[in-house]
Amino acid sequence: MAKAKSNTLKLNFDTSWSYAPAPENKSAATIKKQYDLFINGDWVKPSGNKYFDTINPANEEKLSEVADANMADVDAAVKAARNAYEKIWKKMPAKERGKYIFRIARMIQEKARELAIIESLDGGKPIRESRDFDVPTAANHFFYYAGWADKLDYAFPNRLSEPLGVAGQIIPWNFPLLMAAWKIAPAIATGNTVVLKPAETTSLTALKLAEIIQESGLPEGVVNIVTGAGATGAAIVNHPDINKIAFTGSTEVGKIIQRAIAGTNKKATLELGGKAANIIFEDAPIDQAVEGVINGIFFNQGHVCCSGSWLYVQESVAKEVIRKLKDRIESLIVGDPLDKNTDIGAINSRQQLETIDKYLNIGKKEGAEMYQSSCSLPGKGFWCRPTLFTNVAQSNRIAQEEIFGPVLAILTFRTDDEVIEKANNSPYGLSAGVWTDKGSKIFNMTRRMRAGVVWANTFNKFDPSSPFGGYKESGFGREGGLHGLLPYLNLIN
Ligand code: ADP
Repeated sequence: MAKAKSNTLKLNFDTSWSYAPAPENKSAATIKKQYDLFINGDWVKPSGNKYFDTINPANEEKLSEVADANMADVDAAVKAARNAYEKIWKKMPAKERGKYIFRIARMIQEKARELAIIESLDGGKPIRESRDFDVPTAANHFFYYAGWADKLDYAFPNRLSEPLGVAGQIIPWNFPLLMAAWKIAPAIATGNTVVLKPAETTSLTALKLAEIIQESGLPEGVVNIVTGAGATGAAIVNHPDINKIAFTGSTEVGKIIQRAIAGTNKKATLELGGKAANIIFEDAPIDQAVEGVINGIFFNQGHVCCSGSWLYVQESVAKEVIRKLKDRIESLIVGDPLDKNTDIGAINSRQQLETIDKYLNIGKKEGAEMYQSSCSLPGKGFWCRPTLFTNVAQSNRIAQEEIFGPVLAILTFRTDDEVIEKANNSPYGLSAGVWTDKGSKIFNMTRRMRAGVVWANTFNKFDPSSPFGGYKESGFGREGGLHGLLPYLNLIN
């Protein structure tokens, strides 16, 4: 596809062909030079007057500077959220609350193009992903939870429910806008107010969302967005007037948060790391499975905690699957995230690239065989070629730990029992995938796999109506669907 060679034509120009560049127009998005904090419906300067740069990981150019919120700023945001909760939001008829949330959903749709461009500029993901997945799914979450706002009696029949109060929400860099929607929509639909902190490398779409929220006329203080790094997150976690912490990020920080809130009345939902096993049985439609594996790990640069980065292939078809995977990664287009042809964009940050490189070295040292696409990489920015490891042992670190990059570790198995035991032998349990022609095998596998989501003959499919969340070190609590309402409510009587 991308680089098929022409053997017959003898022309005066390069005979290899590829897609002509099809870049999305950067000027369709407005990024301010500097962003303040969104507190109580207004833009407020950080009290320490500190800002940090946010850069484009595809070329390392500065995009904007973002306020660094300290404890006093977080305190102001929590006070605004508390005030809005007590005086307005919890008293407002649920149907009215729903109308605001519907409005935010519609406004995200109206500004979808701009949001997608900014997501790709700030985070490095291909515009195809941000345009076709992140932004529409974010809007869908607001639509979905707007619908629930006045129907909680149907969600929990014969139970009376009440909101928790102020929710502190901390999100990572892999799905900046979508994670903000995952967190904010169910919280405010159930009558809570919010202080949200985006990740320090990807604050811009959350700040754009703040602009949308301001324009929507949502009462002041219902949603507050503060930017900063770990210290700002810790200030939210430790604030005494917060009732609920919702966190998505690393298992390491999840554990710090759990320790910090132990012994307090704060409730928590933690969505942590993952290492998703994708299992191809010999009876699977192989081409479809190969494409599903590629989609599950490479189209998102492996930047998804449920990326299918751990592939088990039944021995009898392993050779064929590996050959097809190698062919397919050779055709993946790596480059400008804003180009509509790009399959794999930039790695989100230098630090993340260093982590990926560290694991590539570990994989080689452990004796696995590495295969990388021969594509050329841009000179500036943070890039990683799509990579396969074969001859991987179950105990290898690349098979056990979360890499968060376009790196696939391939292992083989012979029997169902063997693969279940191997795939469940992980500290994580967020998601898994099964590829087989047999419905009975799908049911058998999904029952025995210790993973929050098991996809069958597909991968990485999300819908606001279906719950998501993990087992073991992948965290606890469910987000999405009816299940996603419960962590924001007290059920009384
Ligand atoms: P990742 O490895 O995905 O970047 P992190 O857990 O480091 O995950 O970060 C996820 C989010 O948690 C980010 O918004 C980050 O700023 C925030 N964070 C980092 N350290 C802390 C902390 N000690 N307390 C609260 N939030 C934190």
